[in-house]
Amino acid sequence: MAAQFPSKTDKAEAKRAKNGHLQHEAAALDAPPHPSPSTLPGTTLDLTLLKRLSETPGVPGREEHVRALVVEALTPLVDEIHVDTLGNVIATKKGTGNRRVMLAAHMDEIGFLARYIETSGHVRLQPVGGFDPRDLMGQRVRIHTTSGPLRGVLAPGGKHYNILASEHARVPKLEEYFVDVGLPVERVRELVRLGDPITLERTCEEVGECVSGKAMDDRASVFVMIEALRRLGKHKATIVAVATVQEEVGTRGAATAAFEIKPDVAIALDVTPSMDIPGVGESDHVTRLGAGAAIKVFDSSHIGNYKLVDHLRRVAEAQGIPYQMELLPRGGTDAGAMQRARAGTPATTHSIPTRYIHTVNEMVHRADLDAVATLLARYLEDAHTGDYRL
Ligand SMILES: [Zn+2]
Repeated sequence: MAAQFPSKTDKAEAKRAKNGHLQHEAAALDAPPHPSPSTLPGTTLDLTLLKRLSETPGVPGREEHVRALVVEALTPLVDEIHVDTLGNVIATKKGTGNRRVMLAAHMDEIGFLARYIETSGHVRLQPVGGFDPRDLMGQRVRIHTTSGPLRGVLAPGGKHYNILASEHARVPKLEEYFVDVGLPVERVRELVRLGDPITLERTCEEVGECVSGKAMDDRASVFVMIEALRRLGKHKATIVAVATVQEEVGTRGAATAAFEIKPDVAIALDVTPSMDIPGVGESDHVTRLGAGAAIKVFDSSHIGNYKLVDHLRRVAEAQGIPYQMELLPRGGTDAGAMQRARAGTPATTHSIPTRYIHTVNEMVHRADLDAVATLLARYLEDAHTGDYRL
């Protein structure tokens, strides 16, 4: 998105108004545009790739489209790349030493599968991943059929408030939602097969200093993992960067990938809530948007190896990278699965502060993307030095 520069006509009009009643507005027009793209933080980031990652569909178990994009982006950056049985993309960048560091950023997004077609032609849904039904009101979706994507409108059942005023305040239950594709039932049955994946429809756009779209959870981390490999200097550790599958239904891909890779250290890359918004007290913010990379101490799936957590913190301090410590009461990441693979692995999560998680408007800050990518790259260069034995 380009910044809105005043046009020639606007400038002429501003001049004419200099001594008149429009003086205030004229001053505003003469002021430099805000914000100017070149002064925004994280300006070197390839936001076109982030936009493509966000907008490409990939519900758990049906990550094929986003996987193709991830393979395309990772291939030039690594020595080896393959796709495992569950569909994880496993990309290896060899180091000179013996240590193996596994990174995991999940490429699946919350969505649905087509579960049942009503006689009216409305498509019932099987959710894959956790939704708050309040976030689904008034949304559009795409059903990914074998003959291509089919646009649909997501709506809850029951009477519209025009008919029954007392019902309109009630929040619909998740199972009450269906998709209306605007076609007669016969045509719907021809096009839609039970099990077809369904994703929410939303473009990814720059909003102020931030980027907002669907599936920032966890494509923003896939993006940052790629960016960190781009920024990587000399490193002794072998880095195994994994774009995992089926995280949203219980960190399933990370479990099998960690079993295969046998890492010495495992770091999940994921989003974490920034609750620094009106109506939430400071003690419940978890993280603040724009305040830097989040280093996870605790969530309900794992407690980070404290020596690894300290190592990440030391690197951030030494490099002057803005960071914040994160403790999340509820929620989990791939680190929980990797930490418990085989006989256990030192693990934690490196998080991107994110507002409005699991909505189509997930919002991340460019400065945080920049900080997470830099901290990860600098850590990987130093990863061979860490002693995480307890
Ligand atoms: Zn999620």
